[in-house]
This record gives sequence, structure tokens and C-alpha cells, in this order.
Amino acid sequence: MAKNEPDARFAQFGTVSFASVTQVNDFIGYLEEGKLMGTRCKTCAKSFFPPRAHCYQCLAGDMEWFEIAGNGELISYSTLQYAPAGFTEEVPYTIALVDYGEYKVFGRIDRSVPEAELSVGTKMRAAISRTHNGRLTYVFKKA
Ligand SMILES: [Zn+2]
Repeated sequence: MAKNEPDARFAQFGTVSFASVTQVNDFIGYLEEGKLMGTRCKTCAKSFFPPRAHCYQCLAGDMEWFEIAGNGELISYSTLQYAPAGFTEEVPYTIALVDYGEYKVFGRIDRSVPEAELSVGTKMRAAISRTHNGRLTYVFKKA
């Protein structure tokens, strides 16, 4: 698919889709292939997740995709007992921030991981998953 071509792939992402068309719709195509991807600026090499079409550091618009692969380190997490509209059927769930060194990734901890097994510093890896309503997403599992 051509870059920036309007399509509705983002409507398949997450429990609630806040935007159906973005400049980084290929993110969804990669999820369908089982890959979680960010973007990296070809000019200054800054990495972004969520993916961005333009670099806020050097303002260039020439980005390349890279896979969020390997293990990151859990740096913060919280289990939600209350959720905003659209997410109430899913509580409780645990949100997390995982540090991969060059970049950090925000997401959810997979339901199969007991909160008691988590602590700051736990090695995590990202995995493609489905929401309770069958849409594409990604989660963190213990490495
Ligand atoms: Zn840049």
C-alpha cells in the first residue's frame, strides 16, 4: 500500500479506535504479520513508538520502520480497577511502560501474567494479541 494512502486499517486496532486513518497505517499491516513496529528517523536516527511520520527532533519526514524486538525492562506498571468508556468490560488490566533503551513502549501486560510476578526491572517482550472484541493489539509477556 502506498505511503499515506487513506485506508481504514486503524479501525481494526485496539479496544476503541480513536483514529481510523493515520500517516502510519502500515503499523496495522505489520501487526497482521505478527510484528510490532516503530519508526526511526533516517536523518537523525531518533526512534519512535508509537510510530510517527515526522521527527519532532529534526523535523524531517523521512522515516523507516523497525521492529520492536528482543526484551525490554519494565520501568512502571499499574493495574486499573476502573476504566474509561469503551474499556469497562476489560478491567482489571495492567498497563505498563517498558524501556528498550533507545525508546520506550507503553502497553498492557498480557492477562496470563500474574501481577505478583511483576516488578520494576522485569524483562518483558512484546507479543501480538487480540482484544476481547477481536481486534488487533499488542501486549507484554515476561521474557
Ligand atoms: Zn530526526
